[in-house]
Amino acid sequence: MRNKIQMKNPVVEIDGDEMTRVMWAWVKEKLILPFVDLKSEYYDLHVLNRDKTNDQVTFQAAEAVKRWGVGIKCATITPNAERVKEFNLKKEWPSPNATIRRILDGTVFRAPIPIKNIIPAVRFWKKPIVVARHAFGDIYDGVGIRFDSPGQAEIYFKSDGGMEKRVQFPRFPGPGVLQGFYNLDKSIQGFARASFKYALMSRLDLWFATKDTISKVYDARFKEIFNSIYENEFREEFQKAGINYNYYLIDDAVARVVRSEGGFVWACKNYDGDVFSDFVSTAYVGTLALMTSELMSPEGYYLSEAAHGTVQRHYYRYIKGEKVSSNPTALIFAWTRGLKRRGELDSLPELVKFSEALERATIKTIEEDNIVTQDIARISEMPGSKVVYTEDFIDAIAKNLEKMLKW
Ligand code: NAP
Ligand code: MG
Repeated sequence: MRNKIQMKNPVVEIDGDEMTRVMWAWVKEKLILPFVDLKSEYYDLHVLNRDKTNDQVTFQAAEAVKRWGVGIKCATITPNAERVKEFNLKKEWPSPNATIRRILDGTVFRAPIPIKNIIPAVRFWKKPIVVARHAFGDIYDGVGIRFDSPGQAEIYFKSDGGMEKRVQFPRFPGPGVLQGFYNLDKSIQGFARASFKYALMSRLDLWFATKDTISKVYDARFKEIFNSIYENEFREEFQKAGINYNYYLIDDAVARVVRSEGGFVWACKNYDGDVFSDFVSTAYVGTLALMTSELMSPEGYYLSEAAHGTVQRHYYRYIKGEKVSSNPTALIFAWTRGLKRRGELDSLPELVKFSEALERATIKTIEEDNIVTQDIARISEMPGSKVVYTEDFIDAIAKNLEKMLKW
């Protein structure tokens, strides 16, 4: 009998749906439980349990992450009309990720898991680029008007105390469209703090970019908040860690990202993050199953998950009795990142080492043993890949992990 790694505090385990739920159980059984005396507080976000609890379980899970600081989440179905029919649900429950993000007030960090067999489309990139997306406000919460004749428009603000402010657009000589959107200081501050904290935690430079030369009120406020939080709260810690904060104009930043060798966190306003997280992930690894996704809140609450969804198409084949070759890598990394964070918070170096070993074992299986899932085989540059089913892939990782841990 090996001595399992003991934990102090639990992680919040948030289970989900379809193929990721199946893989979740396998990852736990074969890669976690044999090595770690897992302490977890379990919340079942299976779509039927969300329906049964009127979505209360989602709120409880988010509150639990606040209580324990660390959550690990499986992918979950966001019901649409089709899903309501499929599962006979009471209603189209909102996206659990949106609910949890709102409660934790978090920023989402997405990073590729670099694999030697997969050459980034941008040949200079050698180290990961993490995109931190501010997931609040801007055009996602904007309002618009389409007008059919010449006319006049203004932005009007009235404070609760009755103070008024107005700004005029130029007169419109003909039909057109206009849009208004906003952001809040508190949310921008949370975004900035989460970005600085994440950069410190992962010892990477932080880049932030806007178009403040043109957007002299809106983007300038983002720049100002980032600068003052950096100066007042993070400059010293950054210097100690040997990392930098760089501010650029967004177009300059994009050119620099492509010329760079990677290895930094790129904090992006909401729309920029929407666009550039897909750009970076596709150009870097070409499959969502090799992307990590971590949520950090300004209070330090932490939630890791896979960047992809429930892999529904594979699941439908799986329940028909077919073997599938879904890729569990991002789910494994959700576990390693969460356990690593737990280990760091609780001063448990063995748990941190275990997490790092499991990540290395996974990468070794792909890079050196050339044992891969179908999605990797499609994009791998290494000839002679051995394409295996998910369970066999996990077994191969377990073998490598056993060797690495040398109990
Ligand atoms: P998806 O689950 O990410 O899958 C889309 C396609 O990407 C799959 O059909 C598969 O392609 C490929 N893929 C994704 N993950 C893979 C993996 N681990 N291994 C191998 N291939 C993988 O997205 P979706 O099908 O659009 O959404 C399914 C459900 O997930 C929806 O109900 C949605 O609401 C939910 N969702 C949840 C989250 C979340 O909880 N964070 C995020 C997104 C979507 P091939 O079929 O071509 O092999
Ligand atoms: Mg997008």
